[in-house]
Amino acid sequence: MTSVKKDFETEKQVFSEHIQKAGLRHTAQRDLILEIFLRTEEHLSSEDLYWLVHKEDSSVGHTTVYRTLKLLTDAGLAREVRFGDGKTYYEHHYNHEHHDHMICTECGKVVEFFSPEIEALQEKVAAEYGFKLTHHSMRILGLCEDCLTREKELNGAASGAQPRVRVKSVVGI
Ligand SMILES: [Zn+2]
Ligand SMILES: [Zn+2]
Ligand SMILES: [Zn+2]
Repeated sequence: MTSVKKDFETEKQVFSEHIQKAGLRHTAQRDLILEIFLRTEEHLSSEDLYWLVHKEDSSVGHTTVYRTLKLLTDAGLAREVRFGDGKTYYEHHYNHEHHDHMICTECGKVVEFFSPEIEALQEKVAAEYGFKLTHHSMRILGLCEDCLTREKELNGAASGAQPRVRVKSVVGI
């Protein structure tokens, strides 16, 4: 397997410009957080990212990670997503195609999908209500393929097994 080392030059440039505009200075910690965020193609909560960063530099605090994620979001590098568990997750936004999510309520797996039909329909429905759609987040909850299979197997096993009969003892009554 050949691994192409991505250097994320453009993303770093975008961040650099944003930092300057915001009147902030470059810090090694922010750079490390950005680097690890860009390397991780996942939906990460601030806490998740904190632990990834912590492995490489334990002096980075929760607040720094949280604030840097906010900066990344303002800079257009990250996007906030919510899956209904009360947490905020972040994913790559820069140069990433729009997509929506399906979340498995059993194991928490997140599946990304894109449907041009659904996208177009949302525009249409919004327009019908005199609404100008600026952004949206579409969330489908249910069971993933793995969990569905597991559930079927469990049910299958139960029906194949001896029925559990509780026989009431007549002794002593
Ligand atoms: Zn969408
Ligand atoms: Zn699942
Ligand atoms: Zn996503």
